[in-house]
Amino acid sequence: MRSGSLERRPERIAIRAARLFDGHGPGYLLDPLVVVEGGRIVEAGAGLEPPPGVEVVDLRGLTLLPGLVDSHVHLALNATDEAVDHVTHADEAALLASMRAAAARTLAAGVTTVRDLGDRDYLSLRLREETAADPAAGPAILASGPPITTPGGHCWFLGGETSGVDGVRAAVRERAERGADVVKVMATGGGITAGSAMHERQYGRAELRAAAEEAHRLGLPITAHAHSPEGIADVVAAGFDGIEHCTFYAEDGVRADEGLVRELAARGVAVTLTLGALPGGPPLTPEQARQLPAFVAGLRMMRQAGVTLVCGSDSGIFAVKPHGGLAHSVAAIVDMAGLAPLDALRSATSVAARACGVGERKGTVAAGFDADLIGVEGDPLADPAALLDVRAVFRAGRRVALDEQDARGRG
Ligand SMILES: [Zn+2]
Repeated sequence: MRSGSLERRPERIAIRAARLFDGHGPGYLLDPLVVVEGGRIVEAGAGLEPPPGVEVVDLRGLTLLPGLVDSHVHLALNATDEAVDHVTHADEAALLASMRAAAARTLAAGVTTVRDLGDRDYLSLRLREETAADPAAGPAILASGPPITTPGGHCWFLGGETSGVDGVRAAVRERAERGADVVKVMATGGGITAGSAMHERQYGRAELRAAAEEAHRLGLPITAHAHSPEGIADVVAAGFDGIEHCTFYAEDGVRADEGLVRELAARGVAVTLTLGALPGGPPLTPEQARQLPAFVAGLRMMRQAGVTLVCGSDSGIFAVKPHGGLAHSVAAIVDMAGLAPLDALRSATSVAARACGVGERKGTVAAGFDADLIGVEGDPLADPAALLDVRAVFRAGRRVALDEQDARGRG
């Protein structure tokens, strides 16, 4: 019999696994036990005994890790090749329904925190409240709302068009008033917008500086979508905290700039690489194939210079960028940027959490952190592809029911 007058103990469980990657490494902790209470980790270590009377979840066949943190997703894009058309024309109810499905799929794949860097009508902020109230419904969400872009510029169809110093400042204030967690600015053109080119600047330095000043004055981090060397340099000069993509695509080809790369490292700008996709997608165009060696050289230049590299997915923009597809990005950051698997795992857990401003709560398995955990088959430090084989997901201490299809069917 329950009675309101009785003290109810917060729900406690203890999770046993074969080994634990805590988000930092350098190696595994063997025979770990993680004790969870009220959605938080209260104890994590090797050779511990479960507290008396606590339910023990036995995952001794699995490797336990922090839930993955995807620092670049678009829940409002439905991961089809018609995603732009859908987000432009869907009514609000239909769009929210597809976003809820995207959130559920993301969580089932082991991604327990996402930073949404471009929605329509601030719907990802509404979804943020839903998954906060019901953690089993989706990942924890940090959201920018519609990205700030020029009239007719990259992703104009998301509704964030503005220009001029005053316009940009007002747009940043609007996002702060709406409760956004981060400000996103399209500093250059991008690939998914008709009539937009990756190498073209969208804003002048005065506008970018105003955006960064206003965001920081309001206590918000600010990140920019930027491809071209000139666009990247503008964003760095303006004092942005992060850069998305950072491909160095110039009009005449990829041109990674060593001085600029050193500056990214020195200033501690977090660069989110959005590499990786489902295998079996369309082959590279001849032009992409021609640029590939220079692109890869740019990635390796950033790694060697010590730039903070964060693993993101850009989930949603195409059919080959499915929601929950971060594991493919982890594999790609190893293959293309040359990160060691250990650094790739960090870049999708503790490093990503720090870049998203939640490094004190997410991305680490230790006492005091949120109990967002996953169990995978295999040895992700030897082969990050193990992240494709997620067998257990906990969000805020609650075990998420995994559909066999979700958990195993993501090729
Ligand atoms: Zn994006």
